[in-house]
Amino acid sequence: MYLRSKTKVITILVTFWSIVCLQPASSMPIVDAIRIGDYKNKTRFVMEMNKRVRFNVFTLGRPYRIVIELPKIKWKIKSSNLKKSRRIIGYRFGLYRHENSRFVIDLGRPIRVSKAFHLSPSGNRKHRIIIDLSDTSPADFFKNIKRGIPKTFNKTISQKNFKVKNKTLKKETPLIVLDPGHGGIDSGARGLRGTLEKKVVLALAYELKKQLVYNNKYRVLLTRTRDVFVRLRERIAIAHRAGADLFISLHADSIGKKHVRGGSVYTLSERASDKEAEALARRENKSDIIAGVDLNEQSNTVAKILIDLRQRLTKNNSVMFAKLLGKQLNKKILMLRRNHRFAGFAVLKAPEIPSVLIEMGYLSNTHDEKLIRSPRHRRKIAKAIKIAIDKYFTIRKSMRRP
Ligand SMILES: [Zn+2]
Repeated sequence: MYLRSKTKVITILVTFWSIVCLQPASSMPIVDAIRIGDYKNKTRFVMEMNKRVRFNVFTLGRPYRIVIELPKIKWKIKSSNLKKSRRIIGYRFGLYRHENSRFVIDLGRPIRVSKAFHLSPSGNRKHRIIIDLSDTSPADFFKNIKRGIPKTFNKTISQKNFKVKNKTLKKETPLIVLDPGHGGIDSGARGLRGTLEKKVVLALAYELKKQLVYNNKYRVLLTRTRDVFVRLRERIAIAHRAGADLFISLHADSIGKKHVRGGSVYTLSERASDKEAEALARRENKSDIIAGVDLNEQSNTVAKILIDLRQRLTKNNSVMFAKLLGKQLNKKILMLRRNHRFAGFAVLKAPEIPSVLIEMGYLSNTHDEKLIRSPRHRRKIAKAIKIAIDKYFTIRKSMRRP
């Protein structure tokens, strides 16, 4: 919530819409090296690849970021390649939407993209994208900003990717939307052994789907079926378009306190139940910032959605489901002491769809991480969720009876 209403994120489009030739669609371009040259007046960023690609560079404010948009890329970058510099404090890269990739650079200060160009192979160097970053003042950074992201890269996810496949089932069959958190450029939390949240939550979603569709009692739709980034707003929209009866977002957290472990269930509230829940929502809501999304363009939609009066009824159902979930999960896995909490999670804001967010445990805890990686443990979690879903719909049905 706070990201959408309070933060005014501004986008600039630096007009290095560097169109170079489009390569044949034969095989994906491979980026295999990143080099940074730090100078007094500029930092030179070099990305080396086997093919010439078209790219686009723009900057985002609050926090300061540079986004390089590229076609679908195979990333073969060693982490030792990713050096920080006095202007660059972090990097992320991966799939963004279905057909393009992003490389996001976190900046420690406002910068200006003074140059962005392509260099053809020479000597033992391959194709290169060169971006020069120079210092600028915060005032100039925001003054020079032009809003908008080039349309070419701004396609929304096509509906066809999210059609409910099981058409033989009637419309009355409840539709459950499972939302594996993060994906693509946004890896989510990272475990001590390197487990990525985006991978384990997708595995849990697949397991849960398998159990739910088993006896044709439910239709199931996933907000993502592979390692791709999906905006928070888009996740809600997918559930909305499909007419979901229940929305379940799946996550695995990571925090500084390594001894903390256990699962938990969250529902939406503008007032967080406690500091931890609030901090967690803040971490989860960061997903769009991580991927370099211009939050300006989506703030209105979410605001509109929030006003909906049906939200109160939805909230009661969300809370009822969360309680059932907490009870069932408690029987199968270790849960936090107060296992149902609430906070302002952006992804739970669909006005008409009861929504909950499940944190399956802590990747920052050795024991939890080991369990979360285990398919057997994930089957247990899925089983508990399925029982809670069964109970939820039994109660809903009985409530509807005259
Ligand atoms: Zn998460």
